[in-house]
Amino acid sequence: MEHKNLLALKGEIEKCVRCAACQAGCPTYEMSYSETLSARGKLRIARALLSGQLKQSPRIAADFDMCLSCLKCVEACPAKIDTVALFQAARADMAAAGGMGIVKKLILRHVLPFPARLNFLAKLTGLATIFYDNAPDALARFLPYANQGSRRTTPRLLQKNLRSLVQHRHGQGAARGGALRKVAYFSGCMTDLAYPDTGLNVMRQLEKAGVEVAYPQGQVCCGAPAWFAGDNDTARQLAKKNIETFDGLDVEAIVVSCATCGSMLSHALPMIMEGDKRATALAEKVVDFQKLLVELGVEREFAKAPGGGKLRVTYHDPCHLKRGMGVSAEPRILIKSLPNVEFVEMVGADVCCGGAGAFTLDHPEQSARFGQFKAKAVEESGADIVVTSCPSCQLQLADALSRAGLDVPVMSTADLVAMATSGVATGEGRFTPKPRLPR
Ligand code: SF4
Ligand code: SF4
Repeated sequence: MEHKNLLALKGEIEKCVRCAACQAGCPTYEMSYSETLSARGKLRIARALLSGQLKQSPRIAADFDMCLSCLKCVEACPAKIDTVALFQAARADMAAAGGMGIVKKLILRHVLPFPARLNFLAKLTGLATIFYDNAPDALARFLPYANQGSRRTTPRLLQKNLRSLVQHRHGQGAARGGALRKVAYFSGCMTDLAYPDTGLNVMRQLEKAGVEVAYPQGQVCCGAPAWFAGDNDTARQLAKKNIETFDGLDVEAIVVSCATCGSMLSHALPMIMEGDKRATALAEKVVDFQKLLVELGVEREFAKAPGGGKLRVTYHDPCHLKRGMGVSAEPRILIKSLPNVEFVEMVGADVCCGGAGAFTLDHPEQSARFGQFKAKAVEESGADIVVTSCPSCQLQLADALSRAGLDVPVMSTADLVAMATSGVATGEGRFTPKPRLPR
């Protein structure tokens, strides 16, 4: 088997000083205490593969697959090795050697790059979830999406997607004396298909802050599912389409509300399109919507709203937002500034929730164990609502809380801001949460 992609990063592998700093906080290592599930162990395997000391095997493939791409090891590494990029390279070599399953390959290559096909698959999945959600417990436990006999939370996929909703939507215009900026919104597939209201709320809040927002219909998936699975050709195809879509637009920024999309576009895109200046230019324009709202000072407007009772809100840091894009203070600034909201910090707010895109489908048992930690932390915080900024985390947290028997809604920051500023108040001065729970 060729190790073309790993070989290109040989210099990075050699930088490892085997200090083990990457083990502390690595969810897969701390779950197993298996050296080969830590970054150090994986780098050692990579070196052995390149030197011919080890031959590729299903066990090695499984070890590289058992990773949440949570970036904790990247953050900890004193040698500044982009370990997650190295794991991706190893998976790309394995995929090139035929290590990707036929169903995954079909979906990644023939569905993901085509929004209409993806929407069709989402609707089919939505129909299947009706059956799954209504099946008797005795039957549901044997269905594919079930995890060890427990029923899982399903996304709401039968609603109209964001892409078609915005087609018939006229921008609200700049609310206060002309547009401060012109931006384009990149929603990402999950927001488009499962959380369209969140996408609308993001656009409305930017417009309220005086920003002109465009939703380019030519946008496609950010490429994360293909990239992390090692399907570099599909990731490149998607990157090219997105560059073509956004390159000619007269906008100052590309706003994202999904942490993984943001991290992909701002960090992975230039790697995928090595040497393409348009990719670097696009990457530099990517900004998280919460960061932009704080830059525009919207929290000062919230503070003017009348106070009242308190709704306790906690926040989960998506890995790709905090460690991937360096955004963690801004969501907290927004939440704390909202009327009738009391922010409470949970223990391990930045610990991976275990969703991690396809990880929750490929490794449901491990994913559920990481989810359990989060559910306990939420319970101990005493929060009434959990807020996050990644649709994948949102679904995973809703699932974890529901399995733990906790009736705590999970929503995005955009939804909380919309709800808290809409002034739906009860007699005690509290606004009534009307969360859209994907249950
Ligand atoms: S922290 Fe970095 S240098 Fe240290 S063992 Fe891990 S990968 Fe190697
Ligand atoms: S990305 Fe996260 S799960 Fe994967 S090796 Fe690094 S710390 Fe562990």
